[in-house]
Formats: sequence, structure tokens, C-alpha cells
Amino acid sequence: MATKRFILPEEEIPRQWYNIQADMPNKPLPMLHPATKQPVTVDDLAHIFSREASEQELNQTDAWIDIPEEVRDLYKSYRSTPLVRAYGLEEAIGTKCHIYFKNESVSPVGSHKLNSALPQAYYCKKEGITNVTTETGAGQWGTALSYAAKVFGLEAAVYMVKISYEQKPYRRSIMQTYGAQVIASPSMSTRAGKDILTKDPNHQGSLGTAISEAVELAMNTPNCRYSLGSVLNHVTLHQSIIGLEAEKQMKMAGEYPDIVIGCFGGGSNFGGIAFPFMRHNFKDGKKTRFIAAEPLSCPKFTKGEFHYDFGDEAGFTPLIPMFTLGHNFRPANIHAGGLRYHGAGMIVTQLVKDGYVEAVDIPQLETFEKGLIFAKAEGIIPAPESCHAIAATIREAKACDAKGEQKVILFNLSGHGLIDIAAYDQYLAGNLVNGEVSDDYIKANIAEIKEQIKID
Ligand SMILES: *Cc1c(COP(=O)(O)O)cnc(C)c1O
Repeated sequence: MATKRFILPEEEIPRQWYNIQADMPNKPLPMLHPATKQPVTVDDLAHIFSREASEQELNQTDAWIDIPEEVRDLYKSYRSTPLVRAYGLEEAIGTKCHIYFKNESVSPVGSHKLNSALPQAYYCKKEGITNVTTETGAGQWGTALSYAAKVFGLEAAVYMVKISYEQKPYRRSIMQTYGAQVIASPSMSTRAGKDILTKDPNHQGSLGTAISEAVELAMNTPNCRYSLGSVLNHVTLHQSIIGLEAEKQMKMAGEYPDIVIGCFGGGSNFGGIAFPFMRHNFKDGKKTRFIAAEPLSCPKFTKGEFHYDFGDEAGFTPLIPMFTLGHNFRPANIHAGGLRYHGAGMIVTQLVKDGYVEAVDIPQLETFEKGLIFAKAEGIIPAPESCHAIAATIREAKACDAKGEQKVILFNLSGHGLIDIAAYDQYLAGNLVNGEVSDDYIKANIAEIKEQIKID
């Protein structure tokens, strides 16, 4: 059989990240300060994030940004991640397409999230910060930041969405194993949490709520900064290591992708795999298609609208130009916790508006059905989030077969599902639903933010 896995030697691990903002035909609209409605400055952001991350966030000029040597050394403990030709999956679905996946599940914490947690913790350490705080949904980001904080000798406090805190006790234990403090959100430890619980004592939590709590803690605690694992530009910048490696590895395989697919929460793993390839669409006339796979229960691209919105429920964050379902949107309790976020990062938002990125929404049952096919064929149990990318890949491969086309499809396996086995249990027992939301609920939520947030 031909080569199955493509691995880069250590010296081939990229030394710079790729900042797509510098090359975009249309730059995203600016993030706005919620009080003044003026574009945010580095100083505004540096109250919340490390200064270096704040600068990266607003950098629209430098296409290449150096990876600090300390971070690159830590990347070596799991990078390069393998690029794998999914022969098993191709056979299982009977496609003529060539399917590749980038296996980010091999990181010590089981997902791509560590790619950004390491630099974010590193910058905090370098700037004399002692404490970091964040939110986590499924627990993947909290796990990554807990470990990264430990490596750099920082204290971590993680607000974990309450429903996940209860559904995923092992992820909580892992964060505690790395030495982090884990708090179920909404909690009584912040004003934002108290306000939410006063209105609704049974609030199950959401990423938006947990972000409010973590940002509040960071703003009120000296030497503490907040760190976000998705949505923002600097996070996607760090994740570009995925696509930059994949580009070299695809070359080793002697192919170039016609279609690149990633699941979509806030956009970091999708942007990470897609953007390095997209620069060749901008510059070299490549015609690669890029597909973001979101859940039917949280369909910000296919059913949301473009509008300025807050990144969190309490409205502490800057206003972000995003495809959004409204920051009060409460998705059904689907198991792809990392995809239950109301808005899309501003870069991908702009790229969807400009036609460079397509989006599909996929029902939960289809994602697990296809995740099982992948697990049986390739041996890896995919994270419920990653199952969305797998399902979208299989849809595309079948569409190509139906048209008699043979395409090269690359998708990102953002994480493994070994700590999500309870979700697989429920799927196998027939206890899962699709969690589809009504159009009326979505419309009402969006109308609310349009009323609340007026930009002239
Ligand atoms: C967090 C997470 C996601 C979604 O976040 P993005 O920023 O959209 O990548 C997807 N897959 C896994 C495994 C995750 O942990």
C-alpha cells in the first residue's frame, strides 16, 4: 500500500504563523469598543489579554509572525501532527475521492487547542502576568490552557459551562490534574454569574456566560489576564500551524486539496487548516473550496445574520462584526460543546461574505453516524465536534462520486472523542436528538440584538 501517514522532521516544523488578515482582499470591519463604538485599540485589549496577543489581534499588515523559540520547542512534543490518507474511510464509503485528514487529536490534551494555549500562556509569563482565566465549553480549551499555564508556572482559573461540568466530569478532573481551579458557570463568584442566576436559577450555562465571568475576573484582578481559545484573530493565527504543516505534507503526498473542510465553533481550527491554503487562492489562482461545518442546532452561518454583536452574554467584550444568532442564543445541549457558540470569528465572517468560504449545517445524528463510520474504518474515535467535519467530508465525497468527479479532500480532525464516550453511549442507545432550533426563535434573538446594538 502507498504511504499512509506523512510526518515532518522537527526542523520542518514552521517557524512563523500565517496572518491571513494581511492578504485578505477585504479586511474585516473593526472590532468596536462597547461604550464609545470606536475601533478598539491595542491598549483597550491589553486590559483583558496579554499585550502581545492584543497586538496580534489587530495586526492587519504582517503576513508572517515569528513563533517564539520557547513555544516552538513545546510544539515539538507533539508536532508535526500526522497528515493521514484515509484509505479506510475511502473504502468504507466507496468513494473515488482521495481523502486526507490532519490529525490534531495527537496533542497531549487531545485537540488542536494547545496550539494557541501555549503561546498565550507564554506571552502572559513574559509580560509578568501571574494568573490566567478562561471559559471552557466541552472542556477542551480549559484543558489546554490548564496545561499551558502549568508549563509556564501560571495559576489558571477555568469557568466551565455548567452543563459540560456535569456531562463531562473527566475533563474537569484533567484540568484539576494539571493544577487548575475549575468553577461551574454561571457561578456566584462574579457579578455576571449572580445576575444570570438571579434571572434564571436553572441556567445550564453557555460559552457566552462563562466568558462574561472569566473576563470580569480578569478585569478585577491585578496581574490576571483572560485567554480565549477560539473566535479571535490571534487564536486563528496560532492555529495556522495546522495548515502550514499540512501544506508541506500534502506536497510529500504529491497532491493539493480541491476541498478543505473543518468543523466550526468560533473558527480557529477551521481557519487554522484553511487559511494557509486560501492564500494560494488569493495569490496563485488556486480554486480550492473551503467548507465550514456547523451544527444544525447552532447554525450561525446558514441561519444567522451579519451584525455587530457581543462575544459574551453580559456584554463585556468588544463588539465584533460577526455572523451571529444573537448573544442570548441558547443552543440545545448537543454533545459537540465546542460548537455551541452564538457567533463566528470576524475573519471567517468576512470570507463568507466575500464568497471564499461555504458553510453547511449538519444534524447531530448524522454527525455521530458518520463519526462511527470513521472510527470503524480508521480506528480513531473522533471528538463530537470533529464528527461535523467528517460528515461534511462524506457528503462532499458522495456528491463528487455522483457527478463522476475525483477530488482531493482534506479535513481537520480537531480532536479525539475518548473523553466524550458518554455521548457515544447515548448515541448507541438511541437517546440523542438533532436539537434543531425554530426559525422564529432565531429571528427573535437577532431582532433583539439589532434593537440593542445600533452602529451608525
Ligand atoms: C473547541 C473545539 C472546536 C471548535 O472550536 P473552533 O475554534 O471553531 O476550532 C472543534 N473541535 C474541537 C475538538 C474543539 O475542542
